[in-house]
Amino acid sequence: MDYESINYNRYRWNRMLLTGFWSILVITIILECLYSTVTDLPLTQFFIEYMVRPSALLLGLLLLAELGLRLYNGRYQDYIVILTSTLIAFTIVYIHDSINYLILALFLPIMVSIFYFQTKKLLFALGNTLASLYIMYGTNYFLNNDISIVGLITISIMFCLFTLIAWGILRRGMELLSHLKSNFERNQELLVKTIWMDKLAKTDALTGLYNHITFHEYFEKLIDQHERYGLALQLAIIDIDNFKHVNDTYGHRAGDAVLMSVSEMLRSKARVNDFIARYGGEEFAILFTDQSRVESLTAVELIRDAISRLSQQSLDGKSVTVSIGFAEYTSEEGKEHFFNRVDMALYKAKNSGKNRTVVSTDLRQTDESQLA
Ligand code: GH3
Ligand code: MG
Ligand code: MG
Repeated sequence: MDYESINYNRYRWNRMLLTGFWSILVITIILECLYSTVTDLPLTQFFIEYMVRPSALLLGLLLLAELGLRLYNGRYQDYIVILTSTLIAFTIVYIHDSINYLILALFLPIMVSIFYFQTKKLLFALGNTLASLYIMYGTNYFLNNDISIVGLITISIMFCLFTLIAWGILRRGMELLSHLKSNFERNQELLVKTIWMDKLAKTDALTGLYNHITFHEYFEKLIDQHERYGLALQLAIIDIDNFKHVNDTYGHRAGDAVLMSVSEMLRSKARVNDFIARYGGEEFAILFTDQSRVESLTAVELIRDAISRLSQQSLDGKSVTVSIGFAEYTSEEGKEHFFNRVDMALYKAKNSGKNRTVVSTDLRQTDESQLA
């Protein structure tokens, strides 16, 4: 498992474990209170030996652990928590030596180490558990008498077996995590591919502008917006003049370079609300929204002027000009009619000398005004 995942939320989990240890202290006090009702010992002796002594020890331990957790932010935190769990278990078992089955509490560090999903921490916990077991066996007279050497070996083997199961849980967890991770990465790759394909399908390969299909999709949506909410909408169709001649004279590659440079110019002059598409070979369309007809027309004229002054490297520094048809959408006119009006205006611009903009101002396509 990668280091980042291992560290994820480490402090929060260590905090929770430590809170759990505090509750062990509370539980032992409650249990001791219960035992005090059945003990044969004098109450004062019981109180000192089984309540004050262990509680004070556990309290001291927990306070040290709290300090350790605050002082060490890194991976040592985990070891501090495992060690604390060992000492808690050790204290509880050692003080209550007459209840020999409590020795199972030494399994606590192994359980705690599972939280970290790291074999080395599991082994550290097993080491702690076995060391506690043998220290206790060597130093505690009662336990020594109660449990035979064969019993001790059996308990050790049991701890090792439990650790093996815990290790299996870790392996399974890691396997699931890596499976999840590779699935996630595959899905991300797919998402990137989908976005890329979507972009390819929507844009024109040479200029990077939106393509013909996308233009019509967007055009329809904007007309719908106009009909519903009265959104101002203007369309300009821009056609490079004498482009066939450019190709014939300088070659197709030079023609491509001109198309790219004109596209770049259109892009650089556009506002965020403007939608620019390569409509066909050397024809571009711009949809203007949310601004007045005069503002859009001013923008169109700026574009035409800028293109005519733009020196084209591929044409030995010469420039190209464009003719433009322009109109504003009139309510309930319909997409086809509107587009034809603009196309007709472009046709007029071509026929009246090129390098000019013709504005279709009337629905009946009669009254066109020219700008040059
Ligand atoms: P007009 O001023 O009337 O618009 O004349 P024009 O020569 O620009 O128009 P015409 O429709 O006769 O020719 C357009 C030329 O554009 C023909 C075609 O070879 C060229 N063309 C179309 N697409 C591309 C392209 O992707 N790259 C290049 N280099 N040329 C293209
Ligand atoms: Mg042309
Ligand atoms: Mg053309």
